[in-house]
Amino acid sequence: MRKEFLVLALAACQSTPQARPVEPPAAAQQPPVPASIAAQVKAEPPSVDESSIDRSIDPCTDFYTYACGNWLKKTPIPEDRALWSRSFLEILQRNEALLHDILEKDARGEVDPTDPFAQKAGDFYATCMDEAKAETASLLTLREQLKEIDSARDRKALASAVAHLHARGARPFFDFGSEQDFKDATRVIGGADQSGLGLPDRDYYLKDDARMKSLRELYLDHVGKMLALIGDEKAEQEAKTVMEIETGLAKSSLDRVSRRDPNKIYHRIDRIGLSKTAPHFLWDVYLTELGAPEVQAINVAVPEFFSGLDALLAQRKPAEVRTYLRWHAVRAAAASLGEKFVEEQFRLTKALQGTKAILPRWKRCVAFTDRALGEAVGRTFVAATLGDEGKRMAKEMIEGIEGAFSRNLRNVSWMDPQARQASEEKLHKINNKVGYPEKWRDYSTLRIGRESLLANVFAAAEFETRRDLNKIGKPVDRNEFGMTPATVNAYYNPTMNEMVFPAGIMQTPFFKTDSPLPANYGGLGMVMGHELTHGFDDQGRQFDADGNLREWWTPEVSKAFTERAECVARQYDGYVAVEDVHLNGHLTLGENIADIGGLKLALSALRARRGKDDPAEDRLLFTAFAQVWCTNYRPEAARLQALTNPHSTGQWRVNGPVSDNPDFAAAFSCKPGSPMAPANRCVVW
Ligand SMILES: [Zn+2]
Repeated sequence: MRKEFLVLALAACQSTPQARPVEPPAAAQQPPVPASIAAQVKAEPPSVDESSIDRSIDPCTDFYTYACGNWLKKTPIPEDRALWSRSFLEILQRNEALLHDILEKDARGEVDPTDPFAQKAGDFYATCMDEAKAETASLLTLREQLKEIDSARDRKALASAVAHLHARGARPFFDFGSEQDFKDATRVIGGADQSGLGLPDRDYYLKDDARMKSLRELYLDHVGKMLALIGDEKAEQEAKTVMEIETGLAKSSLDRVSRRDPNKIYHRIDRIGLSKTAPHFLWDVYLTELGAPEVQAINVAVPEFFSGLDALLAQRKPAEVRTYLRWHAVRAAAASLGEKFVEEQFRLTKALQGTKAILPRWKRCVAFTDRALGEAVGRTFVAATLGDEGKRMAKEMIEGIEGAFSRNLRNVSWMDPQARQASEEKLHKINNKVGYPEKWRDYSTLRIGRESLLANVFAAAEFETRRDLNKIGKPVDRNEFGMTPATVNAYYNPTMNEMVFPAGIMQTPFFKTDSPLPANYGGLGMVMGHELTHGFDDQGRQFDADGNLREWWTPEVSKAFTERAECVARQYDGYVAVEDVHLNGHLTLGENIADIGGLKLALSALRARRGKDDPAEDRLLFTAFAQVWCTNYRPEAARLQALTNPHSTGQWRVNGPVSDNPDFAAAFSCKPGSPMAPANRCVVW
């Protein structure tokens, strides 16, 4: 249920309430590391870039193209990326370079003395960089895993094989982990959820348009090629079996828009109910082998999915189930294997996202290592990026944003005094985390060697699975960060009622200690306002100040909220993401409410801090905000984002919120009725 500011990776994954084990990024070959990398780290772009602005465009007609026009024209998408943005991906590039420096040193044994796990990070990275070992040692590691699957002749052995695959980061059939109980946020329980697909979403299996049909053909061919690479003689036939099983799972899966309603993914039928819903799967064996033998309290997010899974298991022969498991084993391992696997996996990525080239090996290895040992390398990373002054300034900004929310709350016309009071209480209970955790993760039980990358990836996933399942039945850990310090993102988690801002995003153009205040507020201030508004969007508002899912507004207040939210849904339904694809106003509703609210809060906080309204400063804030979103997409990537991602595309993350903001129209003297100053605005918060 975590609400991220942006999902950078356009990879195929289903959203789950909490963090899940390490899955390696899509990957392959080894071009050289640029020599100028250290220089890149230093060369931060300005917060507001005059040269990006296209002054031939009227800001009142299309503010995004005004603020970003020249940047869009002059900035090609790198071959190895699906999209490129002025902020996120440029920071990502600097972070990659910095992590690269850290890891190269760790790998040579010149470890950072402040990081007790630097040697593990260095070993992980060095093994990843050794491509010859990926060809040989990693393949042997996979063969060991396949042996277990091949010898699974009965239901007991199959349940055990599924557990071991899950523990090592693959996701056949379903997903299992820990989560906070939606209706008692003080408890950590088990959570079982739909999963098991190799394409990005159920619609990719079920929709009948020409594009989806051709993607399915390519996917079928891809599964066959991957199975042939591990030596299966009847790979083509097996691919058909995989497709049939995944299509069956897709049919039982709940769609993305429905999944945004927390009540639709909360079913405390517990272990007993899960066993009754899917009796053809041996849950006792599975949970014991996974490492959660005692768990009884389980949220079965989508019971219909597990009934569907049960019907599939009843129909399918054990040999067919083994084929499906083999596929998911090789799919999850592919990025850690040799060139042929990596290239075959890239063929699918290319079709889905339009990317032209595979990321250089060092970038993939940096990402792998950050996922596996992010809070080890993170110690050195935060020392180099976010200083004490940065952290102090960011906390001061959060207080200003919260103050702005509180002031606005007094003016929200559709609330009654009780709802207003309860919202104020929720606001004051929000826990804010900035930069990095106060207590760093202890990796001492994680074993990392220098032999096989895949063995290291498995070890890291098993470590994460144990850590995750260990939380069940224990008090909630409020210190934990759900993202690594280097991550360029932020999130609000409604069950924790907390906002989290990793050090990775606290850099220019979002934030810099010596940037003009309007630029910092248009960047990081807006991110803070966005995350805060998530606490009160169509999902967040259903959780109370303590993170419990319950109705804490009267039916009248809820109805008034929903009417206003529907205005936002209709507004964004009208926006075209690419070609014939519109944004889905209900899939993106929470993010859009957060964008509209966040921009408003950032401006209000800036004005309060200055003690005056200054149109020039307002314009600077709006321009800094817009330039965060300057983004060039490959058409495939824009399409994938519109179909599966709860975030709107860059253009609409700018033009949507500014057109709903009367202060924008005032700052740029827009004529009433112009596109960025419409007669009817959507106002939720
Ligand atoms: Zn968000």
